[in-house]
Amino acid sequence: MSEHADVLVVGGGPVGALAALRLARQGRSVMLLEARAKDAEVRDARALALSWHSRVLLEDAGAWPDGLPATHIDTVHVSQQGSCGRTRLDREDLDLPHLGAVVDYPALVAGLGGALEQAGVQVRWQCRVTAVKSLSQYACAEVETPEGRLLLTGRLLALAEGGALAETLPGIRRLTHDYHQCAVLAEVETELPPQGVAYERFAHDGPFALLPHGERYMLVWTRSQADAERLLAADESVLREELQLAFGERQGRILAVGPRASFPLVLRQASRVASGRVALIGNAAQTMHPVAAQGLNLGLRDAVGLAEAQGLAADPGDAAALRRYAAARRLDSQAVVGFTHGLIKLFDGHHPLVNRLRGAGMTALDALPALRRKFAGHLVFGVQG
Ligand SMILES: Cc1cc2nc3c(=O)[nH]c(=O)nc-3n(C[C@H](O)[C@H](O)[C@H](O)COP(=O)(O)OP(=O)(O)OC[C@H]3O[C@@H](n4cnc5c(N)ncnc54)[C@H](O)[C@@H]3O)c2cc1C
Repeated sequence: MSEHADVLVVGGGPVGALAALRLARQGRSVMLLEARAKDAEVRDARALALSWHSRVLLEDAGAWPDGLPATHIDTVHVSQQGSCGRTRLDREDLDLPHLGAVVDYPALVAGLGGALEQAGVQVRWQCRVTAVKSLSQYACAEVETPEGRLLLTGRLLALAEGGALAETLPGIRRLTHDYHQCAVLAEVETELPPQGVAYERFAHDGPFALLPHGERYMLVWTRSQADAERLLAADESVLREELQLAFGERQGRILAVGPRASFPLVLRQASRVASGRVALIGNAAQTMHPVAAQGLNLGLRDAVGLAEAQGLAADPGDAAALRRYAAARRLDSQAVVGFTHGLIKLFDGHHPLVNRLRGAGMTALDALPALRRKFAGHLVFGVQG
């Protein structure tokens, strides 16, 4: 049995959902294929720092409902352990109401689910795509559902499932770099409440972010795999003490650390973001280290970029539309992936001289408002050609 839509979107994570909403708004029939069951609980410990621009994109798609539990970020404070240089990026630098917000992954997915329903986008839940293929007139997805196997076709297929299927497409390789590190996540209670300040600290044991999360912080700490295993198994006091030592007293004492989770960290970048009638968006196009909190921000811009590249094209999967998409996204993707990977490399060593140079660099960035504004602008809005 086969069914058809103008556009098939594979993967109902935040990027696939936003792409489906934007493409449906152009009057195209869109079918979103998601492996999860509709009412399955999304168990994901990630709290995502979204830029102001990402929020605007989500709001515009009706996916930022009133009451979405989000904590504003007004300042980002960047520092390194063992040196006094630091940089502060403030919302005033960009004249924005906020630099961004922190949202739990499940809450974001629920917000997008509501928007899909409101917009009447057809979502097929419990629909696992097992193969994709591009033919001259259509792209096809072979799917497994509780009712059996199906073949679905679309003029365009947007791949937003994280990227496992991308490698089966002609001409696409995924360049992979395993950091042999994990992100350790835990909610942290500090003596002083966050008040809109997010911290990015390059500590001796690995960089970490403390993201304002209600009245607490969400810790995202990059550690070696062995360290991550140790911290997950240890008493909470061990993580609390290590964090206090690495962070200092900026927020007073660290009072408590909640349940911990960890994610392995790998960089994957597709050599091309289009093959025939298939376009890669979000993590399928690039999966990156969370140190700079850029992965989803970039992915949401992919989703919007794909819709914008279609314009009024009668055939959404035609070669010219996909060339426009690839060209429009190249610079932003290369710059953000390069910047994120570069940060990890730059802060990898702890020679005292290198430490001092990095500290001086942060102080210089702090002291040069024009440069700081440009830097903050790239983090919030992406890199435009
Ligand atoms: C620890 C950590 C912290 C992070 N923090 C930040 C942050 O602060 N800010 C930020 O911008 N980014 C952050 N990121 C990155 C961010 O989580 C990702 O960029 C984002 O989740 C990518 O969204 P996506 O929709 O492309 O993919 P996903 O979120 O992975 O969604 C993929 C969807 O596809 C579905 N799926 C998978 N396979 C199939 C299939 N075969 N058929 C059908 N459906 C399928 C899945 O069920 C899922 O719903 C972080 C990442 C990590 C690991």
